[in-house]
This record gives sequence, C-alpha cells and structure tokens, in this order.
Amino acid sequence: MQATPHPAQRIRIVLVGTQHPGNIGAAARAMKTMGLARLALVAPQRFPHADAEAMAAGAADVLEGAERHDDLAAAVADCGLVLGCTARDRRIALEQQAPREAAARAVEAAGEAIEVALVFGRERTGLENAELQLCHAAVHIPADPGYSSLNLAAAVQVLAYELRLALLARAGTVAAGAAPRAEPPASHAEMEGFFAQLAETLDAIDFHKGRTPEAAMHKLRRLFLRCRPDAREVRLLRGVLADAQRMARLADGRGE
Ligand code: SAH
Repeated sequence: MQATPHPAQRIRIVLVGTQHPGNIGAAARAMKTMGLARLALVAPQRFPHADAEAMAAGAADVLEGAERHDDLAAAVADCGLVLGCTARDRRIALEQQAPREAAARAVEAAGEAIEVALVFGRERTGLENAELQLCHAAVHIPADPGYSSLNLAAAVQVLAYELRLALLARAGTVAAGAAPRAEPPASHAEMEGFFAQLAETLDAIDFHKGRTPEAAMHKLRRLFLRCRPDAREVRLLRGVLADAQRMARLADGRGE
C-alpha cells in the first residue's frame, strides 16, 4: 500500500562537476543497489564516457536516464529540500546533519511529496561555498578527522544505504529483507481507545498502588507508540486487557 509515486522517486542524487567518469558510473551502481534511480549531473567534465559505463555495470539504465544541467541551481530548482554532502566542516552558517538524520529527513520530506536532492561535490575540491549556500543543510559522514575525504562514489553509497534503511523503515519493514507489513499502523483514535482501556485496567488491577498514574502511562504510551502496532495487534492487546479487567472484577467479588 504505497503512495504513488514511491518516495524514492522524489529523491535525486546530484553530482556536481565530477572529474572522473568512472565515479559517475560507480555512483549510479551505488544508487541502483539501494533502489534509487534519479541521477542528475551538473557540468560533468567527461560524460558520456566508456569508464562510466564500465563502472556502472548493471546500472547502465541509471546513467542513461541521468539529467544534465549547467549549474546546481538548475538541477535543484524544483526541490523543497537540498542537502549538500561535504568532506570537511566549512565555516558557513549551515545546519550540519549526520547521514542517518539526513536520510530520515529526506525520506520524510519525499513522503510528503517534496522533491529532495542530495548533492555531492568535485573529487578535488568538493562543493564551492556558493553551491553550499543553495543547500538547506550540510551532511558530513563522520569519517576519521585525519583523513575524512571518501571517494565520491563511496560517499554516495553511504548516503544511498542510509536512504535505503530510512525508506524500508518508512515502508514498515523491520529490517532489510523482512516482508512488508500487511496492515497499516493503527489510527490515532484506535491507539487512544487502547490507552484509555489500558489506564482503566491498570486501575482495576491496582498497578499504581497509590502512585500517580501519569508517569507509568507516559512511559507505556511512548513504548506502544514506538512499536506502531497495526489495528489487528491493537485489537489483540485490547482482548488481553478485557480479560484482565474481567479477572479483576472476579477478584473483587463482583463477578461478571
Ligand atoms: N577534497 C574534497 C573532497 C571531495 S570528495 C573536499 O575537501 O571537499 C567528493 C565529494 O564526496 C565531496 O564533495 C562530498 O560530496 C563527498 N564526500 C566525501 N567525503 C565525505 C564525507 N566524509 N562526508 C560527506 N560527504 C563526503
């Protein structure tokens, strides 16, 4: 039950001023293995090129579908979120994000029908400050500070992998390879109905023993909301609570 188009289709990888065509091919391969297909090239130095095709291997379709632009502004003109990947800290006023946070933010935005770009710079000099100014945040892979500059395609692979995990999490799979969940998460109203019954049950079984119920309920709410149970699971939990409530009434001597 995925929205159309899939959020991955709203996420593009933008390579700016790439010098080595082999890196473009390797980036395309890195993308395709992680379910990403939208590649945009800003003023590549040599492209198309046999080295790009060789390094792309089975991802030739990603290369063939690549957009070409003269500058970064044109490549991201329709984007509502632009994240610039940098090998080092720059002294510019830009929010910094770790790859995992950036991927979560990108997938969330894409899920809200916002076009997203992840931008990567030139092998030798990275992104220019003027290019970074076009970005909403800078993403830095926390590499060894003594040598923090990854190969361009390797950096694309790290971000593509994080995007993959975030996309899988969003699709409700627990881990790569797990079957997608059959049922959507329970609605807000279903969760609130469950929490109300949980609160009643805790009272009925004298769970709080004179303590205020708020602290325990707060933690339990957080726990169950984190699990994102589906409607069927909520019904099962409510069945368990109903039996606990019935037993509490019996124990009270009030019977059914
Ligand atoms: N010497 C350049 C390195 C460029 S590496 C510089 O200092 O900027 C090419 C591109 O790969 C970078 O522009 C960036 O987009 C990406 N990259 C490399 N290492 C990275 C890292 N540690 N974190 C985020 N992006 C990185």
